[in-house]
Amino acid sequence: MNKEEDYIPNLKIRDFLEKYYKNSIIYMCDHYPKERSIEISFIDLHNFDSKLADNLLISPNEIIENIENELHHLEWLPQQMDISKSHIRIRDLLENIPIRNLRSKDLNHLIAIEGMIRKSTGVHPKIKVAAYKCFTCENIMYLDQNGSKLRSPSICTNELCKKKDTLKLIESLSSFEDSQRVLIQESPESIRSGTNPQSLDVLFVDDLAGNVSPGDRVIIIGILNAIQKTSKDGKSLYYDLYLKGNNIIKLDKEFDELSITKEDKENIIKLSREPNLYDRMIQSIAPSIYGTKILKDVKQAILLQLFSGVRKKLLDGSTIRGDIHILLVGDPGVAKSQLLRYIVNLSPRGVYASGKGSTASGLTASVVKDELGEGRWSIEGGALVMANNGIATIDEMDKMRDEDRSALHEAMEQQTISIAKAGLIATLKSQCSILGASNPKSGRFNITESISEQIDMPPSLLSRFDLIYILTDEPNENIDTEISKHILKSHYIGELLKKEDYERIEEELVEDLPIIEKDLLQKYIAYAKMYITPIMTKEARDHLQNFYTNVRKLGKRSSTIPLTARQLEALIRIAEASAKIRLSNEVTLEDAKRSTQLTSDCLKQIGVDPETGNYDIDYIVAGEWKSKKDQIQILKSSLIKLAVDAKGNDILMESVLQRAKEKGVPESHARELLEIIHQKGGYIDKGMGYIHPIKDVLDSIY
Ligand code: ADP
Ligand code: MG
Repeated sequence: MNKEEDYIPNLKIRDFLEKYYKNSIIYMCDHYPKERSIEISFIDLHNFDSKLADNLLISPNEIIENIENELHHLEWLPQQMDISKSHIRIRDLLENIPIRNLRSKDLNHLIAIEGMIRKSTGVHPKIKVAAYKCFTCENIMYLDQNGSKLRSPSICTNELCKKKDTLKLIESLSSFEDSQRVLIQESPESIRSGTNPQSLDVLFVDDLAGNVSPGDRVIIIGILNAIQKTSKDGKSLYYDLYLKGNNIIKLDKEFDELSITKEDKENIIKLSREPNLYDRMIQSIAPSIYGTKILKDVKQAILLQLFSGVRKKLLDGSTIRGDIHILLVGDPGVAKSQLLRYIVNLSPRGVYASGKGSTASGLTASVVKDELGEGRWSIEGGALVMANNGIATIDEMDKMRDEDRSALHEAMEQQTISIAKAGLIATLKSQCSILGASNPKSGRFNITESISEQIDMPPSLLSRFDLIYILTDEPNENIDTEISKHILKSHYIGELLKKEDYERIEEELVEDLPIIEKDLLQKYIAYAKMYITPIMTKEARDHLQNFYTNVRKLGKRSSTIPLTARQLEALIRIAEASAKIRLSNEVTLEDAKRSTQLTSDCLKQIGVDPETGNYDIDYIVAGEWKSKKDQIQILKSSLIKLAVDAKGNDILMESVLQRAKEKGVPESHARELLEIIHQKGGYIDKGMGYIHPIKDVLDSIY
């Protein structure tokens, strides 16, 4: 507290402050004490005096104190203001140290680290100068509190008293400052996949407290400290690291960690002009997964999701998400999880969560009581928070608890996660696309029930998905051959790769379009997301509008599949993403058509046909659907009846269709259902239009 007496002006530092920061200091004085920090660029300091700058890194406590002292004593401050509560904050350190590389040599140095806020406590008062009163002689002592434990005087400082046991802390005479502790974690893209992200405790005091929340991407500059571990048996030899924060730089831009060189840019532009760009791109998504027609659609959808639409602010201040959400509902073993894992790997900010393991808090955010808050509550961001500005994949969504699923509603549309628990209130950002995977209601699709009834999710949540895909696993000889060929080929190439036999690999791949390498694809996407904001042409707008009004007409009659205004927004987003893939600044009719094509293919799968309107409409009108069950019954009994009439001889397929028609099953439906019955072994195809029903198999089909 006696700094005034031993203060010797450092003219050099005064010069520096005046030369580089006079304007910002005067600005701060105008707004003092609300504004009480001056940001100093390390680069400026280095240019001014490189030795001083180097010293700042090695002895930051001392140098920062010196600079602050000069700041508080500047002669040209307006009206000789007292700004003794102001700080200096350092920015522009030349490198960020990865958290996992922090070592003892960094202790007490000024360092910069980059990452994501994982947890944060509330803002609590922390004692800065403790006042102690001696109850024997009434002497009052002040003690600066810089460490992590409370310091107290051992004896009364009054020479005449020197009593030991009559000292007491007086809060009303002590001074406090705001403090907050946070946990910063390496960002997902900065670490090799498969390794656990490392984290570091950070302490913020005064005006730095309360500025960050979980999910924020930041660079934190601070002084690395060690705190001794204590256990029951006393003090340990081991220390834990924590960072005493000096400054926070928030990073908002997406993908900014991927640096795109001039050469990269040339490659990106070149690729964007390729005539078969879309096909090549689609093929480069999860190339190890064979693209059946439906999986090709899924890959295309995921490609669009990676590029995403345009996030917009409307005139009334509200925002509309640009992120595209996709849901895959499918039988087990159709490569859903495989796709999800691939995307997590491809996207620089991909996070994988499983509905089975994660609770709502693991997915959104939770309030936890742990060491960070020293027994108080802190907020911890879950998967959707940590995927901010990236893609969150949620596997096994059907296994989520209901309350977890309901927590998704806000995250998917508002893209925020609100939390109000244990006195902590926060709104965390969660601007991410969601790729969800789920199994149907009974684990596997059941042919006798409508698909829409088997998607086990509330309509409110379903309507938040822009595209929904149904992946059924029906044995089909052609497709099975293709898939197995593909899997065997991938394995074969893997073997050749191990032998470094590139000649034969090339031979194997002659027919395929060359796959775009992951590195280039990532940079391409990053480039498009950063620089391309396409605008809708008139033709594109008209096309989307027409499509939407048609779909709505059908939607009125559907009770299970939600077709809401969200669908229109989804159409727009998909069209925008399609334009971004070409790096085009215009959303053309072609993009709009791609969007309506994808959407209509999706709707068809769940029983709506936007083109013909009425063909499949009975599939989705819940009451009428039951007729499919009835239709199967009709076909079964027709087969059995005709077989009995034929006394064990083969029967004509035509006669089955004829009989079914008489009983009210249209031929197109009958053929489709007979195919299913055939696959289940209900009859043998004898050729020339003859079939042979198998009664006991037919009886077992329900
Ligand atoms: P799901 O999550 O849908 O139950 P998985 O993703 O676990 O299924 O896939 C099961 C296995 O089958 C994976 O090893 C996957 O590679 C393989 N597989 C399934 N379909 C395909 C396909 N079309 N092409 C290549 N592999 C496939
Ligand atoms: Mg799975």
